[in-house]
Amino acid sequence: MKRAYNFNAGPAALPEWVLQEAKEHWLNFNDTGMSLMELSHRSKDYEAVHNEAKELLTSLLSIPDNYDILFLQGGASLQFTMVPMNLLPENQTAYYALTGVWSEKAIKEAAKLGNTAISVSSKDDNYTNIPDPQKIELPKDAAYLHITSNNTIYGTQWNNYPTSLSVPLIADMSSDILSTPIDVSQFGVIYAGAQKNLGPSGVTVVIIRKDLIKEDTNLPTMLSYHTHAKNNSLFNTPPTLGIYLLSLVLKWGKQQGGIEGIASINKEKAQQLYDVIDQSNGFYRGHAEEKSRSKMNVTFTLPSENLTKAFLQEAKEAGFVGLNGHRSIGGCRASIYNAVPLDHVVELAKFMKDFQNSHL
Ligand code: PMP
Repeated sequence: MKRAYNFNAGPAALPEWVLQEAKEHWLNFNDTGMSLMELSHRSKDYEAVHNEAKELLTSLLSIPDNYDILFLQGGASLQFTMVPMNLLPENQTAYYALTGVWSEKAIKEAAKLGNTAISVSSKDDNYTNIPDPQKIELPKDAAYLHITSNNTIYGTQWNNYPTSLSVPLIADMSSDILSTPIDVSQFGVIYAGAQKNLGPSGVTVVIIRKDLIKEDTNLPTMLSYHTHAKNNSLFNTPPTLGIYLLSLVLKWGKQQGGIEGIASINKEKAQQLYDVIDQSNGFYRGHAEEKSRSKMNVTFTLPSENLTKAFLQEAKEAGFVGLNGHRSIGGCRASIYNAVPLDHVVELAKFMKDFQNSHL
């Protein structure tokens, strides 16, 4: 069976190797006579998978010893609540860089729990760029700075981060985690829903510096990082199937040459599409300013609403899935996460050139 040209924004393409590997062991995991989903989360067989996923992530992202990895549920959206609940004291203010709809949602949840303020914003520019991270200055009452490292809807991405902050940097990396090397020690917390670069929906990865994990008996038990860190994310039943698939995605990541290998393929994929846009004499117009372009979500429009519609229709007929822009901004968006093969992107680039030539 030929795999679809899947450019979905999330849930998104998974590596074919991961699906084959899971299929192979579907009915009989590790000679247990049952599938992984049927194992107890307290069993040795499951625990080995759980811990291997943590080890693989630690090795791929070079996560230092003073960080904990948590596997939670509730999506990245629940982190919009858990971050301020755990890290925003009453007499301090949480600062947010506003770079898109997901940052807006994050600050909205934090504002229900404490004092918030916007540190920098590109809202007046219709979220076409990322503000200069080195210009971010925070007052003394700051508890943390929250950023969205890749803006899935607008197709913008931070390509460097604030370096001289005196407070923890918290990053929602839902749509670009594991796409390029990062220095984890620059961050207090990194969180990501799995369904773009890490696996299926249902598991959320949180990487948190240990000194930020504090016991607070007033917090709801399940919403406290301390609960999950103390129990190796096994306080209650974790999403075992999602974590198993995550471990396979991470193994696949190693096969790609680790984070450097993944990043170099991602660079080539993004270049394919941005080259078509840049060489189209304005036929394709990118939403993002060049310096803020995302290597994960390539957003663009055509000269008219009718041409955009025709493009999406013809692309669909040609077998390209998921190219519609987010319902909030329209246009087109190609999500080219880690698992989207280079040759699928090459096919899309070819289709875009052919479409332009036949509609001039
Ligand atoms: N943050 C970003 C950057 C996202 O792209 C998304 C989902 N598209 C979310 C948060 C919300 O994630 P979830 O659906 O896992 O709550």
